Amino acid sequence: MIPAAAVTIRSPLSADEQGEFLRGLVARAAEASRRGARPVVIFDLDGTLFDNRPRTLSILRELGDTLGGTHPDVTRAIMDMRASDVVYGLTDSLLGRGIDSPEVAARALSFWRARFFRDEYLVHDEPLPGAARFARDCWDAGATLLYLTGRDLPEMSVGSWVSLREHGFPIGRVGTELVCKPSFDIPDEDYKREVAPLVARLGEPIASFDNEPANCNAFLRVYPKMSSVLLATQHAPNPPRLDDGVTVVRDFTS
Ligand SMILES: [Mg+2]
Repeated sequence: MIPAAAVTIRSPLSADEQGEFLRGLVARAAEASRRGARPVVIFDLDGTLFDNRPRTLSILRELGDTLGGTHPDVTRAIMDMRASDVVYGLTDSLLGRGIDSPEVAARALSFWRARFFRDEYLVHDEPLPGAARFARDCWDAGATLLYLTGRDLPEMSVGSWVSLREHGFPIGRVGTELVCKPSFDIPDEDYKREVAPLVARLGEPIASFDNEPANCNAFLRVYPKMSSVLLATQHAPNPPRLDDGVTVVRDFTS
């Protein structure tokens, strides 16, 4: 279960409301498809379709192995960590487990950075409940699925593609696209704001799912008629005020 960090922004829909809302989107995709409008549903990956905290956990366990006996307390604390102990910032995750040595934190951060943004570690990600099923329902209803991620093309696109396929998301088929950032250094928000207007090339965006309030607001600004949806998982610190038109859900169960 992912802690609903974004509850501080706005309460998510109840389970019943969420089910009704998600089923309504599928129906909307089917209706738009019938009238030839080429509906598009946009999905972010990290914190939206996938819980990436197990990726961090796996990297920290690898770090624990390399620390060996040099920092026994740290190694023990790391090995005892669970996905629910992982918060947005790595240093805060360590602090939460009582690891407050600046030297260890710096070493952990550098170890984590060298691995977290790479194809081979994406295998640890776990889909949010109902995510693959919902994506399939949208695709079956005739929507084009656009997986639009801040992951970068050089180091993370192949792993993202494999991860989507392995977890049962439509990918590698007509009506699906995986779009990544051209380079790592571009800030995610800048990239998504820039690319949002281009989505119209695929058709009529009817819904967008993202865990970052800034991205939800940006998509709604470009496509005021779409459903912009925030996943109440984790998001970057100091988010902007969430636009009143954004819907908040916990996951994809319906
Ligand atoms: Mg995200």
